[in-house]
Amino acid sequence: MSNSTNIKNKLRSVGLAPRKSLGQNFLSDDDVARKIVRLANCKPDDIGIEIGPGIGALTKHLAQAVRQVIAVEIDRNLIPLLQQELAGATNVTILQADALDVDYASLIREAGGDENTPVRVLGNLPYYITSLMIRRILESRINTQSVVLTVQLEVAERMAALPGDMSMLAVGVQVYGKAEMLMKLDPSVFYPQPDVDSAVVRIIPHGRVEHTSELFDLARAGFSQKRKQMRNTISAGLRMTKPDVDDLLASVNIDPTRRAETLSIPEWTHLAGAYVERGYGRANRSDNLTSDSDNNSEVAAPSTANSTEE
Ligand code: SAM
Repeated sequence: MSNSTNIKNKLRSVGLAPRKSLGQNFLSDDDVARKIVRLANCKPDDIGIEIGPGIGALTKHLAQAVRQVIAVEIDRNLIPLLQQELAGATNVTILQADALDVDYASLIREAGGDENTPVRVLGNLPYYITSLMIRRILESRINTQSVVLTVQLEVAERMAALPGDMSMLAVGVQVYGKAEMLMKLDPSVFYPQPDVDSAVVRIIPHGRVEHTSELFDLARAGFSQKRKQMRNTISAGLRMTKPDVDDLLASVNIDPTRRAETLSIPEWTHLAGAYVERGYGRANRSDNLTSDSDNNSEVAAPSTANSTEE
């Protein structure tokens, strides 16, 4: 029996089918699952956090590589199946929750760790929560060493883009760490098969970044109108006069005729620093420009990846 049929039968045995709305394309190739876990470079004393374990394809390998795994799955219907699959693994805690709402620092403490405990994060996520999830994890007070994500190929390429091809997604990820695309995955390694190729991306976090909210405000404004110059997009998006924008950009040596996709991460961070220094930061704004825009939910154009028959 093929692995796909095996997964299908397991789901059917408890009256379930993959849910498209939750991006449920389960990994059906055990060798690939092992390779993905290996890319996280886990050490025996690490704690592993898995976002969206599904029915445990990655979880069982992660459990062998670290001291403790915390697996956060939103779909309560999958939990009994997941428990059954992981019955032999005594170091896995399964939490039924939306991974966007979880307090990761508390989870690590409950698992016997603290803010210095090395943490490895793994996930195979629906594209629409990827960027926000990365932000949640990397802004938590936990010691994340690596984040290994399986996403659709196009999203992986955009996450790891270089200046010239940057997007809101690339900025949203690379502000927190170095992103590398490490492995392409054919649709055939999933059940059900998505319509497009996928890829594994690894993010290695760097130190904490200052003024991320303002940086994202600037980036959102910068990327809001494709192919327009920074002078125009920042002025329109953040309601600043063009001379003020020119002045701000000149203070960090950014030519105001450049476009947002050409800026590097150091340029975005310098720009955010200058923006705050000049009193434009969130703390000083009385308008509502920034009130509902903190989730950086960017972002990728809707696509058919991770789509399944419901
Ligand atoms: N990791 C498993 C694998 O590779 O077979 C499952 C991957 S499947 C693409 C994505 C999983 O993430 C599903 O089990 C889905 O229910 C879960 N999921 C989706 N959104 C979630 C969220 N906000 N929080 C936690 N889990 C989520």
